[in-house]
Amino acid sequence: MSNNITNAIMGLCVADALGVPVEFMQRSKLKADPVIDMRAYGTYNQPAGTWSDDTSMTLCLLDSLANGLDYDDIMKKFHQWFDEGAYTPYGETFDVGNATRKAINRYASGTAALECGGKAEGDNGNGSLMRILPILFYLQSQYGSEINEEAFDIIHKVSSLTHAHQRSLIACGIYICIASEITQGIGLKAAIQTGTQKAMQYYRNNPEFTHELKHYARLENKDFEKLPEEQIKSSGYVVDTLEAALWCLLNTNNYRDCVLKAVNLGEDTDTVAAVAGGLAGLYYGYDSIPPQWLAVIAKRDYIESLCDKLQTAQGN
Ligand SMILES: [Mg+2]
Repeated sequence: MSNNITNAIMGLCVADALGVPVEFMQRSKLKADPVIDMRAYGTYNQPAGTWSDDTSMTLCLLDSLANGLDYDDIMKKFHQWFDEGAYTPYGETFDVGNATRKAINRYASGTAALECGGKAEGDNGNGSLMRILPILFYLQSQYGSEINEEAFDIIHKVSSLTHAHQRSLIACGIYICIASEITQGIGLKAAIQTGTQKAMQYYRNNPEFTHELKHYARLENKDFEKLPEEQIKSSGYVVDTLEAALWCLLNTNNYRDCVLKAVNLGEDTDTVAAVAGGLAGLYYGYDSIPPQWLAVIAKRDYIESLCDKLQTAQGN
């Protein structure tokens, strides 16, 4: 089994599950006892293979896109996840970010879907970046591999459902541009470099974003991958998460090493790993994911069936 959708989504989900038992753990602690395999219990006391909000919200978007692009329907599914435990491993929602919680509560109180996301500078957690990846497949079915003006607008709107500040929109734009380059079969480093350049070019030409670009300056530096680990933060701040995920992709050469490196950076382990793992899965493919990790993933068949559903809907 191998298609871009399954590669990316299972790459993201397995990485999320690797990070869940050690979420919030400090890097120094993980140095002494690094994660090298799928663990159980820990932070949320869940069995091995339990994935979290990162995967749940990704599945909401994936499932919604199988019926076309409908922002209200995506938000409805986020609400079902939050309120009813839909799209979860065991019918129970745990691990919800603040900005996401607030946005879903606004939706529940009658706010229009595209107005729900927080716009303040403090609303720049990684909560939209961690779930944006499925939009790539919709955009490619509509516009091909080039992320054009309309495609950027859609990426931004999907982010805005929960995270509407320009900094979060840019993170999602850079990430999807890189993902799109990966599917073009150029090398991973070339895809990260080209995708970043194309996204930054777009934002540089759009006055509403130019004042935010300084926050992404390190990613444009050719020597970014050579930064020492001490200079890579793995917090839940969207810029830190995107940097950390790309740094792990640039400093490893297979799926396993990439996602373990991400988890072992500590702090927001599941999300940094999920953001890295989605692209690692897309690049290295499903068969590169250790089978013993896939074997314990909760509701694996269900997730793969949702991937197939979108694949079929797009006639690929
Ligand atoms: Mg999580």
